[in-house]
Amino acid sequence: MGTAYLVGAGPGDPKLITLRGAELLRRADVVLHDALVSYSILELANPSAEIIDVGRRAGESRWLTQERINRLLVDLARRHSVVVRLKGGDPLVFGRGGEEALALVHAGVPFEIVPGVTAGLGALAHAGIPLTHRGLSTSAVFVTAHDADDPETDEEWRHLASLDGTLVIYMGGARMRAVTERLIRLGRSADTPAAVVESGTLPEQRVVQARLDELADRVGTLHGPALIVVGEVTRLREQLEWLRPGPLTGRSVMVARARSQRSRIARALRELGASVIEFPAIRSMPTPEAAAIPDALERLPGGGAIVFTGAAAVRGFMRSLAASGNDGRALAGFHLVGIGRETIEALRRAHLTCDLPLRSYLPIHVAAALRRSVGPLEAHPVLLVRDGQGPSALGEGLEAAGARVTQIEVAHRAVDGRGRQSIERTMAAGRLDAIVIPSSSAAEALIASGLVVAPAVRVIAIGPSTAATAERLGLPAALVPAGSGVDAMVAELVGGLGPSSAGRADSPLASASSD
Ligand code: SAH
Repeated sequence: MGTAYLVGAGPGDPKLITLRGAELLRRADVVLHDALVSYSILELANPSAEIIDVGRRAGESRWLTQERINRLLVDLARRHSVVVRLKGGDPLVFGRGGEEALALVHAGVPFEIVPGVTAGLGALAHAGIPLTHRGLSTSAVFVTAHDADDPETDEEWRHLASLDGTLVIYMGGARMRAVTERLIRLGRSADTPAAVVESGTLPEQRVVQARLDELADRVGTLHGPALIVVGEVTRLREQLEWLRPGPLTGRSVMVARARSQRSRIARALRELGASVIEFPAIRSMPTPEAAAIPDALERLPGGGAIVFTGAAAVRGFMRSLAASGNDGRALAGFHLVGIGRETIEALRRAHLTCDLPLRSYLPIHVAAALRRSVGPLEAHPVLLVRDGQGPSALGEGLEAAGARVTQIEVAHRAVDGRGRQSIERTMAAGRLDAIVIPSSSAAEALIASGLVVAPAVRVIAIGPSTAATAERLGLPAALVPAGSGVDAMVAELVGGLGPSSAGRADSPLASASSD
């Protein structure tokens, strides 16, 4: 039997999950998550974890009852060692996490509860609204609007209306007018300052401040989860709003990828304020051929060269070496060659010195470098260790240049399309602005993931040849930068999109709740 972890995902921004939460996601065998948990948080999960969406969304008829979720959680914990139940905010705040924990107790399943920053704290702090402030408010009450139109709860709401501290109302988006009118009717002054924080801490965050009696009109249509905040503290936002928008603030961009590493493009876009997801995930899986490594090494004469073409090649090679009872000493007397920055970094992490770091995969460049540093190719056989991520013409090219080459593919690349549905929903709701295609192989991986790209999403290819591949695969690029490189691409995207204006199409989270 395993352990079930009830983990709070924090208010929305993936950086606001706890260290413990992130650690458990990395170790998870299975992750069960709610509608409030975004793809960006799920990206933190172990790539081989099974991800199950048990969230409810407006307009979806098929969802799991709480009882079925409880049962699923218990069943999974009996079959897997690390089961993460991931909930928006804090698992025990308006999230029925307590009920799930009780179900685990009754079933005798060991569990742990990992707190999260609840939206009522996190989204408010992010928006520059203190919960308490000397001279303005000495208390804060968290309440759900769930029963806001039930006359039986009048007494309770009369009490809430009489408090002059801060009132934070969860799940009030769809009942905003009912909630504000009721508070006024039961005694709170109509001119009390109030605010709504929608999609707090997320790129599409929107904050509206108004008098209590004008709030519902001023907010209009909501597209994401929202909190209503009532009290003097909301005025402080005028001075405490700290978020400085960048040129891509409020924009959502997907960067397609063909390798497992995080891309420089994604980093550059995030710095400009965009919310970035990288998709699909690329996993490297060991091949049966990897078992042949110790043998091949034994047959490689001293003075030979071991050429690694990728980080996964280095890891797969070392894994197979270790599995046969060997360690780094087995590599004494060979020249270690790494091609590509990440390969060289992987060698360093394995505590191996790369004798010949190379940047080019072109066979003529590799052959020339080997001749220069190792000696005549005829006298120095090559063991080429590949991971399916680099080009495959290298072996033949080196042979044509006179080298004796043994090739072993220790890992191969697998496109992992998990999370696809969540991205498709985001697209259907009009909340994905662009897809960046950084290479032809990324376009191919995207197609292999099965993602269906909505026509409204703008595709940007890094250059003409990538654009041609994308077009052939049915992804015509709307934007192709004039210059080359990451900077030109980012500039083109900024020019093409610009900062977001409010008022997007309905989001799938519009009436998401975890009750
Ligand atoms: N357990 C969660 C709350 C779940 S109830 C927590 O601790 O935060 C769902 C409600 O939480 C939504 O209706 C909304 O009122 C609020 N909420 C969750 N995430 C939010 C966000 N990013 N911005 C504003 N409100 C949010």
